[in-house]
Amino acid sequence: MITDILEMGEQTKLRGQVVVLGSGIAGAEVATHLARHGREVILVESGRDGFVPSIQALNDVIFLGKRHRELDPDSYYHRYLPPELRGVSRVRQFGGTSNVWTGKWKYLQPIDFEGRPWVANSGWPIDFADLLEHYRSAAKDYGFGDLEAEAVRPEITELRAKLTAGGLKMSSFYWEQTPTRTAIRFGDEMRRSQNLQVVLGATATELKLDDSCQRVTAVVCRSLEGRELTVEGDVVIIATGAFEAARLLLASNRQLPKGIGNAHDLVGRFYTDHPKHHTGFLHPGALTRQYAHELQYAPKPRFCICFALDDATQQQHDLLEHVLYLKPIYEKPIDRLWRTLRLRPACRDHNGAVAAYRVKFVTEQVPQKNSRIQLGKELDALGQRKLEVDWCFTEQDHQSMATTLQLLTQRFAEVGLGAFDFGNDPPSLETMTDAAHQMGTTRMASRPEAGVVDTNCRVFGMDNLYVASSAVFPTGPSYSPTFTILALARRLGEHLLQTAPVSITQLSV
Ligand SMILES: Cc1cc2nc3c(=O)[nH]c(=O)nc-3n(C[C@H](O)[C@H](O)[C@H](O)COP(=O)(O)OP(=O)(O)OC[C@H]3O[C@@H](n4cnc5c(N)ncnc54)[C@H](O)[C@@H]3O)c2cc1C
Repeated sequence: MITDILEMGEQTKLRGQVVVLGSGIAGAEVATHLARHGREVILVESGRDGFVPSIQALNDVIFLGKRHRELDPDSYYHRYLPPELRGVSRVRQFGGTSNVWTGKWKYLQPIDFEGRPWVANSGWPIDFADLLEHYRSAAKDYGFGDLEAEAVRPEITELRAKLTAGGLKMSSFYWEQTPTRTAIRFGDEMRRSQNLQVVLGATATELKLDDSCQRVTAVVCRSLEGRELTVEGDVVIIATGAFEAARLLLASNRQLPKGIGNAHDLVGRFYTDHPKHHTGFLHPGALTRQYAHELQYAPKPRFCICFALDDATQQQHDLLEHVLYLKPIYEKPIDRLWRTLRLRPACRDHNGAVAAYRVKFVTEQVPQKNSRIQLGKELDALGQRKLEVDWCFTEQDHQSMATTLQLLTQRFAEVGLGAFDFGNDPPSLETMTDAAHQMGTTRMASRPEAGVVDTNCRVFGMDNLYVASSAVFPTGPSYSPTFTILALARRLGEHLLQTAPVSITQLSV
């Protein structure tokens, strides 16, 4: 059932077996999974069905370091969104940020889970094999194309071999025709469900603990209209996105003055994003012309590819992963005339002749303690402390960008992918924006001194508190985090089904 906090009394108490905070891809996935398996779930969502600016304003932050992209009604990208949302990085609405996202699904690569000695704080305490079955089952349920079969398709294998010989690598992602919107995907199921109660307009503002401070006993929720709701459960899952997950842990500081899970001062630290820049063009070379149909962006759904320097080169030069995307720009009559006069061969895909490829450059950054979010002094409309965001970079981030650009330019030319033209705007950290991929603020680790959650996404020191979000990513080299968020949410759902069956019996006694 879907309800609103306004349909309840001034001060209401609800109880379920599992309490999920947030209805984005992570929260909706784990809540419906558990409800389908007979668990009584209460999902608390700050937003409502439609976009409400005053609720969205609860996401406002103060930037101390590099800023995120600005809202820009005239933005070159996000033209598919209403003007007031172009450039938004996260959304407070039923369905969360999936209301605006683009729908590119990509596996992390096996190497992304490994610690790379030349990248401080890199690596996960779990590996690719731990997520593979969850990637696979999600792909099947959501009806995606098979990324594993795509990786061994003959054309892809051929192209990969040519790139490998030139010191480059490529990976594929699946691009949905209509991006999954969780409110649409799960809305009917949620409305009909006997086990799942969704409460809209309710913002979780505090987690209350028992006397041992090792167990969450209740979630305090409030609305902009002044309503209060207390939700109790045996298990609490924070799926409010990477910023708001850390904020809630830090703001719940009545019983633990440093906040929950923050004994080692790690909550909110190691914040990373994927700095990105749409800049310049690639003038196609012979290899690009040969494989132009693999580089198409339309029609969707389709598999697309992106490029990077190979792992050996990254290791040799202490580099981070910098990924290149190429979007075809089709010839206009004037371009055709220009090309014909110069006797240049055409680069054709199934949609027409490509004049050039627009370059999107997306990078990883070194996870570091100083890049962080913390509670500031300013308050939001619910009286909650706003976040201060200090998004910053290391010298290695800058060096890596410069060296990568030089090597990519050289190798793209050598293998026949083509020549870059960045004009006066080469990719640089100064001119890059965030990619709306907040990560790392409650990083996963094998011990509490190194992270905030354990390998099952349980907050260290807490018996019944979990995080489902890219907040747990210790490193996120590859672009497009959401498939991994989904796989982790599925894995958490399975873990809870296996480990918490007892509480169900207890509750029904
Ligand atoms: C324009 C755009 C395009 C993108 N495209 C891609 C892409 O193609 N591929 C990709 O992999 N990723 C993409 N992303 C990133 C992707 O959207 C996110 O990684 C993903 O949606 C995060 O899901 P989530 O469930 O963790 O968080 P969210 O979707 O942000 O959900 C969090 C939910 O929690 C609610 N909430 C917050 N605080 C509270 C609180 N205190 N109490 C109760 N509820 C609360 C919010 O209202 C929200 O509904 C894109 C992002 C943007 C902005």
